[in-house]
Amino acid sequence: MYGIDNLPYGVFSTTGTDRRVGVRFGDTVIDLSVTLRDDVFAQPTLNPFMAQGRTRWVEVRAAITDAIGADTVPADAVHPVESVTMHMPFDVADYVDFYASEHHASNLGRLFRPDSEPLMPNWKHLPVAYHGRAGTVVLSGTDIRRPSGQRKAPDQSSPTFGPSTRLDIEAEMGFVVGVPSSEPIGPDRFADHVFGAVIVNDWSARDIQAWEYVPLGPNLGKSFATSISPWVVPLLALEAARVSTPVQDPEPLEYLRESRSWALDIDLVVSWNGHEVSRPPYREMYWSPAQMLAHETINGATSRTGDLFASGTISGPEKNQRGAFIELTWGGKEPVTIGSETRTFLEDGDEVVIAASAPGANGSRIGFGDVRGRITGA
Ligand code: CA
Repeated sequence: MYGIDNLPYGVFSTTGTDRRVGVRFGDTVIDLSVTLRDDVFAQPTLNPFMAQGRTRWVEVRAAITDAIGADTVPADAVHPVESVTMHMPFDVADYVDFYASEHHASNLGRLFRPDSEPLMPNWKHLPVAYHGRAGTVVLSGTDIRRPSGQRKAPDQSSPTFGPSTRLDIEAEMGFVVGVPSSEPIGPDRFADHVFGAVIVNDWSARDIQAWEYVPLGPNLGKSFATSISPWVVPLLALEAARVSTPVQDPEPLEYLRESRSWALDIDLVVSWNGHEVSRPPYREMYWSPAQMLAHETINGATSRTGDLFASGTISGPEKNQRGAFIELTWGGKEPVTIGSETRTFLEDGDEVVIAASAPGANGSRIGFGDVRGRITGA
């Protein structure tokens, strides 16, 4: 999972030392500030390195590979992974959350709007998204406090205020921009601007969301927390994972067309209190991440280093491939069994872990690690 074909980047510290950049190799973290003697890796975030661009990303990856292959990594640069503390890998500039799974969007349409078509008329013409809250993107392992807010069930005449009773997850992949741009980033320039990918859990309070989201989309039902995994897998490690999107019909407008798709064959696994409940397949996503970024920038919106955009909940066609509990339990009507207990939505003390992996070069597997979070009381 963490072989020579992966080499994901993260920010770490050891007891009494400053944060700096390392790569994961096997069960170790290699300190790049020591190994490559470049101050860009002595920084507390990946942003300065990500801003240097693809040519430099390729050079550094080759230098790390050479150092490992030639056994020239200094001994004081190697730390057992269990001895380090991981930190937020990058400063999040803006955060945009897409809605790119046809299965998820259809299921949510049926649950939220049972009397109309599951997919809205725009859905197959553009990657639908809303603008999320960058300031509450948190590192894996951060406790998630149950949000409070306004809720109104359909059979209630007026809203009430209190802790969310329908707290949920969204299993997603997120992509981080390295090289900024003041111009639209067409799909075929994706790899010149996007540095890599992380796993995202976009925590969602369904009761708050259902009451607030018309007509401008989700806000407080989502903005309390979004968790990301600590290791950023570079796009350079994901060539072997590239696949085609499902057939896009109608054909997208010109600015969304890719000459070779950036759809990715990533397998996710969702565990609830230690029990596997779902295996969302990223390859089923209708829109590729390159199409998402192309859409996000086509209106002239600029991109900054650290911009994060997430795919939206990943759900496949099968029930055990659904990446949100509202779908898995069909709005709470079909509880899932986890060990000796059943659940519909998250209870205080529950922990969710989302892991991911993908095919790598030379028959290897590329591990993304995992994103985890535990619910604490309101
Ligand atoms: Ca989401």
